[in-house]
Amino acid sequence: MTAEKDLSAKPRAIVWFRKDLRIRDNPALEAAYEAGKEIIPVFIWNENEGGQWSPGAASRWWLHQSLKDLGQSIASLNGRLILRKGLAEDVLPQLAKSVSADVVLFNRVYDSAGQKTQVSVETALRRTDVKSQSYNASLLNEPWEIKNGSGKPYQVFTPYWRASRSGIYRKPSSYEPANLAFNGLDSKSEKLNDLSLLPNHPWHTKLHSHWTVSEDEGHRMISRTTEEVTRYYSNRRNTPSIDGTSRLSPFLAWGNVSPRQVCHAVLHADGHSGTRGENKFLTEIGWREFSYHLLYHFPLSTENPLRPKYAAFPWRKDAKALSHWQFGKTGYPLVDAGMKQLYETGWMHNRVRMVVASFLVKHLLLSWSEGARWFWDTLVDADLASNTQGWQWAAGCGADAAPYFRIFNPILQGEKFDRSGKYVRKWIEPLQDLPSKWLFKPWEAPTSVLTQSNVTLGQNYPRPCVDHPEARARALEALATLPKN
Ligand SMILES: Cc1cc2nc3c(=O)[nH]c(=O)nc-3n(C[C@H](O)[C@H](O)[C@H](O)COP(=O)(O)OP(=O)(O)OC[C@H]3O[C@@H](n4cnc5c(N)ncnc54)[C@H](O)[C@@H]3O)c2cc1C
Repeated sequence: MTAEKDLSAKPRAIVWFRKDLRIRDNPALEAAYEAGKEIIPVFIWNENEGGQWSPGAASRWWLHQSLKDLGQSIASLNGRLILRKGLAEDVLPQLAKSVSADVVLFNRVYDSAGQKTQVSVETALRRTDVKSQSYNASLLNEPWEIKNGSGKPYQVFTPYWRASRSGIYRKPSSYEPANLAFNGLDSKSEKLNDLSLLPNHPWHTKLHSHWTVSEDEGHRMISRTTEEVTRYYSNRRNTPSIDGTSRLSPFLAWGNVSPRQVCHAVLHADGHSGTRGENKFLTEIGWREFSYHLLYHFPLSTENPLRPKYAAFPWRKDAKALSHWQFGKTGYPLVDAGMKQLYETGWMHNRVRMVVASFLVKHLLLSWSEGARWFWDTLVDADLASNTQGWQWAAGCGADAAPYFRIFNPILQGEKFDRSGKYVRKWIEPLQDLPSKWLFKPWEAPTSVLTQSNVTLGQNYPRPCVDHPEARARALEALATLPKN
């Protein structure tokens, strides 16, 4: 990372937006403001930057909406967001020259592709007389700041969070966006539509009815979190039929809001600061931080299990079973409801994410990486750190993961966390009238009950694609093939 430099020599700075698509609490903008610079804002789209982890369809949809919002915010401050396609290391030196900027300011990203781009940009700028400076906009702590007693990265969450939790008190920046001196230069820019972020498949059009994507909406969601969510969070967070979690994840993924803003709002909320719900909620922000800590220190974990012995796990290949899972046709109602919520809204409740992930890797014995890829394409909050960590956790091969031998029973999970059946009935239309007693195991319902409820197994709702006890036994057998340690 580059050292602090004198930014005051010339009047113009390029602010290069990455996963920080906001005007408030943006350290790169703040630096430009403090140095008294005129700001030339730019976003550069390189469709191939992340390789196989380049943004998926749902993420690209979110990015498109976020850029539209950011462009409007900047225009309202008399600036113009420049959009470019290509390699940042080619675009930035050339742009700096054409607009007479002497410095490029940007916020860091932590996946290995993004870090490589940063190095290439810094190297390219060093060849010119343009300086660069990077900042932390998307984490409470830098991944390299937190080390265990032996100076190594943590691999267990509780001590990690004990060592890093004080990061929640870091304050968001206090500059006024209206004071940012955006420059409205008519520099060459692509049109937003020319970035071709929106997938050809019309799937994404329905996302509009579930999400409003903007920085302001992110702040409205933060207010909702402090007013409603954290208060009851401990009791409600595991009930997928209740809107009991913040749904801030996609706003955090593209940086429409920052974790500092979220923590600051929670810690300063009227009347209920220090409650159990609030602490639990902040701990979840801690899991996000932990995921980044792991991704930074173990960049290959996107492909390889963190516990090396799992590399030999005998995963099956079964395109049909994978497709049943992807499109909510496993015959297990809680799993199918989750997969339908995902496909319909681009988001899935965390409890159900754990259940569907467990089902894929244990009941179907398909690799966690198949699941991670589907999530990557369909989640509006797709985040390489949290997705990798979530999948490795479910597959028992990650840091601080659920042991593989603990196999979620999708029937009991439904009965416990969707007791009223509201969640399953919402997402699986044909099961509307099935009594709760059979809702999570329709194949056990008497024929008369199925007939009365208008359920015809194998026709309007699938029969179970695997038998739970058999699948459980098969998973344990597969586990037994691995070395003990
Ligand atoms: C298999 C699997 C895959 C996942 N993939 C992603 C992903 O791609 N992107 C993503 O943001 N989250 C992922 N998660 C974590 C979690 O499910 C979501 O962050 C959460 O459901 C988002 O909803 P929320 O904003 O209402 O969360 P809240 O419960 O309101 O939590 C607040 C914030 O804390 C963070 N957070 C909460 N739980 C976790 C967690 N377990 N791990 C890391 N951060 C967490 C998120 O930033 C979230 O917005 C995954 C979990 C699993 C089990």
